[in-house]
Amino acid sequence: MYTANFRYSRPKTLAEAEALFHAGVDAKYLAGGQTLIPTMKARLAAPSDLIDLSRLPGLSFMREESNALIIGAGTCHADVAASPVVKKAIPALADLAGGIGDTAVRHRGTLGGSVANNDPAADYPAALIALGATVKTTRRVILAEDFFTGMFATALEPSEIVTEVSFPTPSRAAYVKFRNPASRYAMVGVFVAKRTDGVRVAITGAGHSVFRVPEMEAALAKNFTPAAIAGIAISSDGLNGDLFGSAEYRAHLVTVMAKRAVAAALV
Ligand SMILES: Cc1cc2nc3c(=O)[nH]c(=O)nc-3n(C[C@H](O)[C@H](O)[C@H](O)COP(=O)(O)OP(=O)(O)OC[C@H]3O[C@@H](n4cnc5c(N)ncnc54)[C@H](O)[C@@H]3O)c2cc1C
Repeated sequence: MYTANFRYSRPKTLAEAEALFHAGVDAKYLAGGQTLIPTMKARLAAPSDLIDLSRLPGLSFMREESNALIIGAGTCHADVAASPVVKKAIPALADLAGGIGDTAVRHRGTLGGSVANNDPAADYPAALIALGATVKTTRRVILAEDFFTGMFATALEPSEIVTEVSFPTPSRAAYVKFRNPASRYAMVGVFVAKRTDGVRVAITGAGHSVFRVPEMEAALAKNFTPAAIAGIAISSDGLNGDLFGSAEYRAHLVTVMAKRAVAAALV
């Protein structure tokens, strides 16, 4: 029988967590475990040490602060979805969190785990990019644009811990996704945000990592209506294709979902 063999620890401070990480051979932080545990069960990861961040004090919070919404990395998706603070400041973010996975996933999975993992089909990365968010870690503050560096890759150094994300409040925003009916991850998800400095359109699920569509952003900056982007098609080159949908299908979905996102943002 296969037995996973790892040391489990539950640090009381961020500094202790980082020290435990350095002491391990191939250590991993554990937050909600909604990605890491299935990955271990599938034997795709076998960390020497699991350092549980889920009981660390001060990582689960949501507050509004001078035109920004700050959410602690340990905040679970269900809390973001239900939060009156989030619903008032950026309702699109509450909608996004409420559409992640299923009830069990939403009650365990965290914002920090989602951004640190940077799954190409995860929902939060689109919100961070469209809203121009910044990621605060135990060492620095990183612009979302610089944080997501590729498929399952981020700017995080091995022992660095995400502590919070700051989302500037947009004047209008919406997130819509075309779900994979089995996993509920995005086949294509589009986050549209109208900000004081223009419009951003961020796409998840279609490519190897979240990306923006400058042509749509320019058209929407002039005319924020679904019609303004109806004629803009993106190339399928480099997009994901799998048994659920080809790259061409995903490219088509980008325009369809972007129009829906703009329509939703106008409601
Ligand atoms: C059935 C199912 C359906 C899902 N559907 C969706 C979906 O529709 N949309 C979606 O976006 N996601 C979906 N997810 C993923 C879910 O959102 C996870 O919550 C998320 O990917 C990981 O968060 P976690 O807190 O569980 O992290 P974990 O699984 O505990 O950790 C994931 C990775 O992040 C690292 N990590 C965790 N926290 C931190 C931190 N604070 N700082 C640095 N590194 C950290 C860990 O070391 C690990 O490498 C789904 C998952 C499942 C199992």
